[in-house]
Amino acid sequence: MKYLFLDQTNFSLILFPNFKNMLLQDLNHKIIDCTHCQLSVTRKHAVIGQGNSASNMMLIGQSPGKVEDESNRLFVGPSGHIFDKLLAFTGITRDDIYLTNLIKCILPKSRRPSHNEIKECTYYLDREIEIVNPRFIVPLGFHSTRYILGKYGLEKPDKHNFHKLFGKPICLKGLIIYPLRHPTALFFNSSKEDIMKINYSYLNILLKNRN
Ligand code: SF4
Repeated sequence: MKYLFLDQTNFSLILFPNFKNMLLQDLNHKIIDCTHCQLSVTRKHAVIGQGNSASNMMLIGQSPGKVEDESNRLFVGPSGHIFDKLLAFTGITRDDIYLTNLIKCILPKSRRPSHNEIKECTYYLDREIEIVNPRFIVPLGFHSTRYILGKYGLEKPDKHNFHKLFGKPICLKGLIIYPLRHPTALFFNSSKEDIMKINYSYLNILLKNRN
């Protein structure tokens, strides 16, 4: 039988729990100074991941908005207001989860991220996932969900059928991917509020049943 070796990061994380925060700090310094794509020219801040790095659950938004870019904090603008309302409904707080974005810098005029921007920036998200090592990955919205499906080699539905994924947990070995609609979906379609509240409420159940 072949040996299955732990990689160096995972071995260090077992030996030294504080090593996780050291690795994240180091990564965050790289993000803050990053100029790997043209979004570095128009941003005020590259907004880093926040929350509980020891959590089993990582939520992944798309990118900072105007208020996030100015304040250097995640989900504090209009979408953050909705996000907090949805979280309050679930009964969990930001301290229960680790929160980050697919793209760390603001997208001018709220445009979609380009293929190249996703390719350049997801080095950081991949590293965050490796360090935080969550059991539950919760991508919010189309772009984050599409990236996470691709990362784990899962089939990506076409654009018209994509919404069918939201609220449906996908089980992989040792990992559950639980795609949810992005909070901003409620700006465009308030009729989704009830289903989104139900879908978000399962975050609490997943966290409680972590074993
Ligand atoms: S979006 Fe990502 S890759 Fe581009 S400059 Fe910001 S941190 Fe770097």
